Amino acid sequence: MSDGKESLDKGKIEEGKRNYLSHSRMNMYLRCPKQFEFRYMRGLTYRPSGAMTLGGAWHQALEINFNQKKETRQDIKLSDMKEVFSDRFDTKVKEEDVNFEDAKPSEIKDKGLEITEIHHREMAPKIQPVEVEMAFTIPLTEENDLHGFIDVIDEERIIVEHKSAKTTPNDQSMINDMQLTAYSKAYRKIYGKEEKGIRKDTAVKTKTPKMVSQTTTRGENDFDILLQIAHGVEAGIKTGAFAPNPNGWHCSPKYCGFWDLCMGKKKPSTGFSKIGTGAA
Ligand code: SF4
Repeated sequence: MSDGKESLDKGKIEEGKRNYLSHSRMNMYLRCPKQFEFRYMRGLTYRPSGAMTLGGAWHQALEINFNQKKETRQDIKLSDMKEVFSDRFDTKVKEEDVNFEDAKPSEIKDKGLEITEIHHREMAPKIQPVEVEMAFTIPLTEENDLHGFIDVIDEERIIVEHKSAKTTPNDQSMINDMQLTAYSKAYRKIYGKEEKGIRKDTAVKTKTPKMVSQTTTRGENDFDILLQIAHGVEAGIKTGAFAPNPNGWHCSPKYCGFWDLCMGKKKPSTGFSKIGTGAA
């Protein structure tokens, strides 16, 4: 549950232990090496957004439910789930200097309550977990382990990942998702056999929220690509290759927490103008 687990990535490796890469670290390096440098080489943190806060609180509510469900085989009541979400959301807002930008915290919280409800009604009853937030650390390269957390493994041997998103996820994103490749690789290493399936349940935060469930598979080719990525990231870190990458949605005051240290220092030139409709 990436929304709620970033903080776990902040922990330093204990002395004597191997270094590690996680899918989120590799993703950040690929998205913008400069962002990676700010975050992991210089250890800087940034204010969480409203969406991250919603996602984190929602994941904590799911975790509490699924953890008790391992024994009871029953979901907790919706009113209790909502109470947990509310409590976690309010605590984060109080303690974490959340950057809501121009959004209203109450509206974000209401959306979180809505996705808590729809997940509880439509998805939770179908999941019987045997593992919840399962931490893994497995060998990856000569220098780094692969570290992460699998949201849920159910009794059918399905890996389940939970996400909240503003828009409906497309199928290609499911095929490409490095996080799912990492989970599959970890599952096979830990259990010595293949998972039966990989599923991502996304709560889409549209006006009327909906759940989208997608399934996929992974194989040797995917693991090979993961390894190539890991080697590339390692080489970049070793040689200090931390070029800024301003090309893309991620490079904006809204989506990069290090904007003020980086692109924000630039004086805007002439702004931009749009002429015609063709691509440049
Ligand atoms: S402001 Fe843009 S280029 Fe700079 S770290 Fe952030 S994403 Fe990268």
